[in-house]
Amino acid sequence: MTKKQDLENLKSEMKKISLPLKKGATNLVFGEGNPDTKIFFLGEGPGYWEDIKARPFVGNAGLFLNQLLQSIKVERKDVFITNVVCYRPPSNRDPFPEEIEAFEPYIDKMLEIIKPKIIVTLGRFSMAKFLPGVKISIVHGKAFDVNWRGRQIKVVPMYHPAAALRNGSVMLQIKEDFLKVPGLLKEMNSKIDAKQIQLI
Ligand code: URA
Repeated sequence: MTKKQDLENLKSEMKKISLPLKKGATNLVFGEGNPDTKIFFLGEGPGYWEDIKARPFVGNAGLFLNQLLQSIKVERKDVFITNVVCYRPPSNRDPFPEEIEAFEPYIDKMLEIIKPKIIVTLGRFSMAKFLPGVKISIVHGKAFDVNWRGRQIKVVPMYHPAAALRNGSVMLQIKEDFLKVPGLLKEMNSKIDAKQIQLI
């Protein structure tokens, strides 16, 4: 089975079962993008437009995320984007810990299928999944080597794009932090090349 089919099956499974926040939501916002990507973006939860369109990051924060991706010449269709909860919390409130926990096995399954090399967390809820106990004001834009379920992944915590839209200095920070992603990708690709050379 291909990664795309595995993701489709996971999405169908999630639609069928009862998950927190489902009752008040219009649509499941499973996530979207390239199943073969090396970069996985993890946000907080769907907002108004995401709930209506069943797509992640399509409101104002999404437009800004698109600009950030353009700034590093990465096409949105080439990455994968989802959230720690896949139904919209009422009035866009913060997701509760038990809600994040209920979605966690499904987010982990997405990671298992896609096997990204870099996870960019957007905001403190997705950051806490990989880097519990850290402060975003201190660690944003730094790359952490995380052993996630037996696989080495670089986790790069970033501010949430919606926070950047509310605060000019956060906007400057997130723009600067995004500029570090191409370097990480390059570093990772050169490691892959080195491995291939060793195999020959
Ligand atoms: N904010 C998020 O965290 N996720 C979205 O999909 C949209 C806005």
